[in-house]
Amino acid sequence: MSIRVRFPPSPTGDLHVGGARTALFNWLFARKHGGVFVLRIEDTDRERSKPEHTETILHALKWLGLDWDEGPFFQSDGVDRHRGEARALLAAGEAFRDFMTQEELAAEQARRQPEGGLVDRRLAREIADGMAPGEAERRAEAGEPHAIRFRVPDGETTWSDMVHGEMRFENSDIDDLVILRSDGSPTYNLAVVSDDADERITHVIRGDDHLSNTPKQILLYEALGHPVPLFGHVPMILGSDGKRLSKRHGATSVGEYERQGLLAAAMVNFLALLGWSPGDDREQMTVEELIEAFSMERVLKKSSIFDLEKLAWLSGQHFNDLAAAELAPGLTERLVEAGLADAADLAARKDWYFELIDLLKSRCRNMNDLVDQAMPFVTDNLEIDEDAVEKHWLKDPEGVGARLRELARRLEASPWDETAIEAVIRGYAEELGMGAGKVIHPIRVAITGRTASPGIFHVLRLMGKDQVVERLSSAVTRLSKVRKTLS
Ligand code: GLU
Repeated sequence: MSIRVRFPPSPTGDLHVGGARTALFNWLFARKHGGVFVLRIEDTDRERSKPEHTETILHALKWLGLDWDEGPFFQSDGVDRHRGEARALLAAGEAFRDFMTQEELAAEQARRQPEGGLVDRRLAREIADGMAPGEAERRAEAGEPHAIRFRVPDGETTWSDMVHGEMRFENSDIDDLVILRSDGSPTYNLAVVSDDADERITHVIRGDDHLSNTPKQILLYEALGHPVPLFGHVPMILGSDGKRLSKRHGATSVGEYERQGLLAAAMVNFLALLGWSPGDDREQMTVEELIEAFSMERVLKKSSIFDLEKLAWLSGQHFNDLAAAELAPGLTERLVEAGLADAADLAARKDWYFELIDLLKSRCRNMNDLVDQAMPFVTDNLEIDEDAVEKHWLKDPEGVGARLRELARRLEASPWDETAIEAVIRGYAEELGMGAGKVIHPIRVAITGRTASPGIFHVLRLMGKDQVVERLSSAVTRLSKVRKTLS
């Protein structure tokens, strides 16, 4: 039997990280076993379903690399089949017509049990069965609105969950659920069973929040004569405080992480470790390694914590593993978009550009970091951080100005390799009897606008002599103005 799994998001919002994790587990399971991953959009909630949400969800799945083999199917296309299944259950006596509204049913319940007490899960059935023979059909034919409810059989429902093991529900605890509403629309439990059967789904892997639906669905499969798939319920994802994950804990939509410049490979790695582990101490894993190691047996029973620090760490690890050639297109796109660089110019300086990326990437956790770090190297308009100025220039504007002026002169006359640059700077510091750091910090601010950068000699060489001399000179000008305003 070939494995067929599905991911059936409701297009009522962005792809949530919890949904993405569910999609990933299904996808890994399919890829691991050479199975089929089906995508189905559950758009039967007319009010809340929006085509733009479908678009966002498809985009997020593509970004993560979770390609589907079949679909996207739309649940709304199956409504006739759903109704047919409801009618079949009715004809077989496994469902009944319910002409009462929710309010009438609640009122009847209250009348029978004025003190309150347990809800009678079979009340609607009792009323339906109490009608005269043929009455329900007559009223239905006369067009009287009514729901169709499933007649939950006696006994108990059990299944062997791929995550939780043996599960058992007393059927007496399950309502005679509505399967077709009075407006003719199918409910989730009917539609999902009908669709999963139609798509020949063999394994249903989804969140723990659906655990209480599963016995209802199993009973529906059995009543409809469809083969019952295997079920696996993956535990919830919690925020760092142990509460259900929400926006309070940080971004919960996958698109938000894409916008933040996170690598899809890091997101996939992170999501895979939410509730699953490879069984050894590996954390950083490629998607190929995840497929290889994935198994439902290793899905944890307890909830997992959405740890943003771990995501940031994984992101840095994956980022570092990328070659400059892989990072360059994304970086160029962003730099050009931000009006900071010209694509043709970067292409013409490919060796320089790749060397720059290699120099910067180990200090970056994502693409946005890299854009930020690359900025001083690609644009003529250097933005100088005021805190850096305060810290490394303004304590001694005069002295710093004089030293930067002299350094500009000496560097201009120096050959342009790292050893020579280093010799100039260290030699000058020695002459002054100062620590090299004291000389280097103000240079870094003048050249990069910041307090931190990769090794300064490498930075200077890559920046190029002209740019370095120019930046040192404008620092000198700026500092002379400071001196004037101070005096
Ligand atoms: N559309 C449902 C949801 O997003 C699908 C649940 C299921 O996997 O059966 O929760």
